[in-house]
This record gives sequence, structure tokens and C-alpha cells, in this order.
Amino acid sequence: MANSANDSAATRRFPRSTELYERACRVIPGGVNSPVRAFRAVGGTPLFITRGSGQHLTDVDGHSYLDFVGSWGALILGHAHPAVLAAIEEASRNGTTFGAPCAAEVQLAERLVDSYAALEQVRFVSSGTEAVMSAIRLARAFTGRDLIVKFSGCYHGHADHLLVAAGSGLATFGRPSSAGVPEAFTACTRVLPLDDDAALQGLFAHEGERIAAVIIEPVPANHGLLLQRREFLHTLRSATSRHGALLIFDEVISGFRLARGGAAELLGISPDLATFGKVIGGGMPVGAFGGPRRIMSRLAPDGDTYQAGTLSGNPVAMAAGLATIELLVTQSGWQRLESLGAQLERALSPVLAQAPFPIHLVRAGSLFWMAFHEAGAPRTSVPLTERAAKRFGALFHAMLERGVYLPPSAYEACFLSLAHTSADLQQLAQALRESLAALG
Ligand SMILES: *Cc1c(COP(=O)(O)O)cnc(C)c1O
Repeated sequence: MANSANDSAATRRFPRSTELYERACRVIPGGVNSPVRAFRAVGGTPLFITRGSGQHLTDVDGHSYLDFVGSWGALILGHAHPAVLAAIEEASRNGTTFGAPCAAEVQLAERLVDSYAALEQVRFVSSGTEAVMSAIRLARAFTGRDLIVKFSGCYHGHADHLLVAAGSGLATFGRPSSAGVPEAFTACTRVLPLDDDAALQGLFAHEGERIAAVIIEPVPANHGLLLQRREFLHTLRSATSRHGALLIFDEVISGFRLARGGAAELLGISPDLATFGKVIGGGMPVGAFGGPRRIMSRLAPDGDTYQAGTLSGNPVAMAAGLATIELLVTQSGWQRLESLGAQLERALSPVLAQAPFPIHLVRAGSLFWMAFHEAGAPRTSVPLTERAAKRFGALFHAMLERGVYLPPSAYEACFLSLAHTSADLQQLAQALRESLAALG
């Protein structure tokens, strides 16, 4: 799709973003530091943001947007929440990093351990990618096995052995999904379809004694929102237990978003290890992974599994995370987010029912997704038709014109924050009604 920085309509409407994008493209590959930001899936010029406040974003050309991305879920309180800013200011006055332990690490670790049933210990890192990478190394060390299993449609960051696409046909051998990843690195990764009990049982029957861990987003939110049947996740829990493999819940999105105890609490399923990111950093770079002491103690310096980080447990980031979780706890955050989500469903459903083509609303708490799949909302990583992808691109720009910022890809979920109000949801519904009419 068109993505020319010289696109004339964009130049007129977004002169400063266009200029920054041109400069960025000279010195940063593709002009961005994370691919989805480049608007390749929807066309046009990525917007350069100058300010975030509550539920709003302002771009460098002075346009203001109602934001449903929230920095990909990190900003559960909205942008620049005063309590988070105050915590960051106070912490940073004492220095931004020590490379030595600080009290805030202990406090945030205690918060996580108290909140999430499967945790006795956690270790902090600086991103979700690192959290997953380290949890997998730990799982391999603990079990003494090599194989890991992931599901097609789940994203776990960009570690080599997880950049894997499903093989063709019945083969579950993963093939590298990125250049630069040797086949040998993915030879120990198996890929399964979501929602398929038989494929799961088949793999365990065949290779169960070699599997170190199965990793899954319990509420898969990186290929749209692929809500799983509870029985499928229970099957997964019992298969891993029976074969001595660890179950890793990647709660980088769902952790502290769907409930205080994450998706694990909602589903009533306890993983062996869990990974976190996004919300727990309150908008600062933080990841974490954790589990029971008997597994976590394999980590250096107690154990033989190496893992480290110069900025891990950073005092400013810990303060932002603590302030965020504190507020969620004291202001009934999860209850309010669920009620906002229910309101959103009531506001959008009648609009989508009138759409000139099929759009299905999928929601879990404060996560929602408008699935453009003509055959209905999928539970597995079904690709969009070209026609549906084009429709999303057109809708994205129509919404942008009406002051609503959606994720620039049909495969990305949208996020509500505590900053959103009922009036915002009405505004979203109205913009959607007008946009769909304009497209129809
Ligand atoms: C965002 C995400 C990651 C990667 O986190 P980064 O901080 O981007 O490295 C891993 N797993 C899931 C489920 C995610 O949504």
C-alpha cells in the first residue's frame, strides 16, 4: 500500500509529521524504532506525537486525537497521569540508575508476588522480549529439555527462537519468520494452531518428554483478540503437567490489565511461569518474569542459569510501575475498566450491526478488537482477505480525520484506559458511524 512520505494529501494535512518522517527515514531504518509504527499496513505518513494527556494524543501538526492505543497497552491510567509523573519526578531527583539494589525493586516485586497467585519470586528486566527470553532459558534449565512450543498468532517479543512461523501441512516444525534467524535456532521450537486440542495432544503424544515449556498468551491479543475456549487452556494445563513440561503464560499485555491476578485469575488456571511488561512499567521500560521459588532459584546468582541487566530494576521505572498498580488497586481499576468495556460494547454494537460490510466486536475487559473477517471473529490466526485489509486501512484514515487514533493495523487490539469516559465512548461510536457511512 502507498507509504510515500511525499504523498501530497498527507503533506498538506501533516506537514511537520511528513518532514520529520523524511528526516527519520534518512537516519532510522524505515523511519521508526518499531515496525508497526510506520503505518505500512494502512498507508500514509506515521504521525509524530508531541504530547499525551489522559486519553488524548497531540501530533506535531497540532491535531488532537482520542487515543485507543495507549502505547500498546502500557498506559492503563492514560497518558501522563499526575500520580505517575509525581512518582517519576520524585524518584529521578535521587538519581536515575544506581546499578545496585534499591527499595523500589523490592516494593514492586512484593506487589507482583502478592497479586499474582503463581508467583513467589520475580525478576525485573527492561522489556517484554527480555522477560520471555529469560523465562524460556529458565524453563530449559529447570527441565533439562530443549523443545519449546508456541502458538501461531501469539507474539512473545523478538527473541530468535520465537520468530517462528508454522510449517506447512501437518508439520509443526517452526521455520524462521525473519531473516537473520538460523534454522538451527528454531529447530527446537514447535508451532501449534490455537484452539486445536487434537494437534496439542498429538504433539505431546509424539514429543511430550522432550518439551521444556509451552508458552501462550492466555488471552491472545497480538493477532487481533483471539479469545480461547477455557477448555482448550485447561487441556493445555493438564498436558503440560502430565508430561513434566512447564506452562508459561505470557501476560505482557493481560497482566494487571484484565485483573489484578492477570488472565490466570480470570481463567482459574495457574501457570508455572509468567511474564509481564507494558502495564507494570507505567509507561517506562519494564518487564518481569516469575514463578515458584523452586524454579526461580535456578537463576544466577543462586543457580546456574545466567540472566542480567544493567538497567534492570531501574528506580525511576519501578516508581512508575508502583504508582500505576497502586492506583489500580485503590481506585477499583479493574472493575471500572470492565464497566467501561461493557459500555463500549453497548455503544459500538448497534453501529457495527449497520456497517456496510461485516465487522465483529471482540472484547475482554479493557481490550477490544474490531475483526474485519467476513466469516466471523476467529479463534485462530486466520489472515484477512486483501479486501478486508483495504477496508481497515480506509476506516483507519476516516477515523483519524474524525480525531480517533486506532492502532495502524487490522491485527492489533485496541486499549481502554481509566482516563476514558462514557462521553469518549460515544465519540468513538459517532466517529465510527460517520466513517462507515463515508466508506459504504
Ligand atoms: C508486547 C509484547 C511482548 C514484547 O514486549 P516488548 O516490551 O515489546 O519487548 C511480548 N509478549 C507479548 C504478549 C506482548 O504483547
